[in-house]
Amino acid sequence: MKVLVPVKRVVDYNVKVRVKSDQTGVDIANVKMSMNPFDEIAVEEATRLKEKGVATEVVAVSCGVTQCQETLRTAMAIGADRAALVQTDAELQPLAVAKLLKAVTEKEQAQLVILGKQAIDDDANQTGQMLAALLGWPQATFASKIEIEGDSAKVTREVDGGLETISVKLPAIITTDLRLNEPRYVTLPNIMKAKKKQLDTFTPEDLGVDVTPRIKTLKVSEPPARKAGITVPDVATLVDKLKNEAKVI
Ligand code: AMP
Repeated sequence: MKVLVPVKRVVDYNVKVRVKSDQTGVDIANVKMSMNPFDEIAVEEATRLKEKGVATEVVAVSCGVTQCQETLRTAMAIGADRAALVQTDAELQPLAVAKLLKAVTEKEQAQLVILGKQAIDDDANQTGQMLAALLGWPQATFASKIEIEGDSAKVTREVDGGLETISVKLPAIITTDLRLNEPRYVTLPNIMKAKKKQLDTFTPEDLGVDVTPRIKTLKVSEPPARKAGITVPDVATLVDKLKNEAKVI
């Protein structure tokens, strides 16, 4: 079973993002970029499936600028066997990414695609679902446990009320939640090995996909600054303030 893992290059989760002064987006000049954390979990899970002998090959794929190669090298240092970059400088929205991933999935004849549940930059939570729809495959989103049983995947999902376990027929789309696993620490020898692994590059045109954006961003703004808190002298004052000022009790 070949597993495809889409990985997105995003602003590192430790960076405090700053909105551009013209409010057209977030400033990413000279900012540390990393693999989307949920995608790291996806690469780890695919690597574990390979180590268990369930997956035969793990292919990482990224869509975006040339520097996404670094993200793909990280995926290969975790355990992906090889990688593909769909290289474009164009702004990519989830539908365009899903169309590109459909083309790569078909080209690779993958039986399982494990994506992150969402990218921490656009918080869209759309690509996996759109890919499932485009391919006509079943989907299991927000996975916290994955077991491959014959031609099905048994997936435990994190839902509001607790955990839900479902079974989907392969080929399928799975998206990862935070508690699925803890990605391994990438070691120096594996970083060196990853440099020698195969990385192919395509363009959206090679795949016959039109990536023209469908959604126009009107404005991006900073969240309102939080007001400073106050110290109250005793519990009685706290209760009084909660009751009469904040009106929350
Ligand atoms: P989103 O729908 O943007 O929140 O992204 C959900 C998931 O889709 C991510 O966690 C990635 O696995 C995948 N994805 C989104 N954008 C890209 C991209 N440009 N390249 C590769 N994978 C992507």
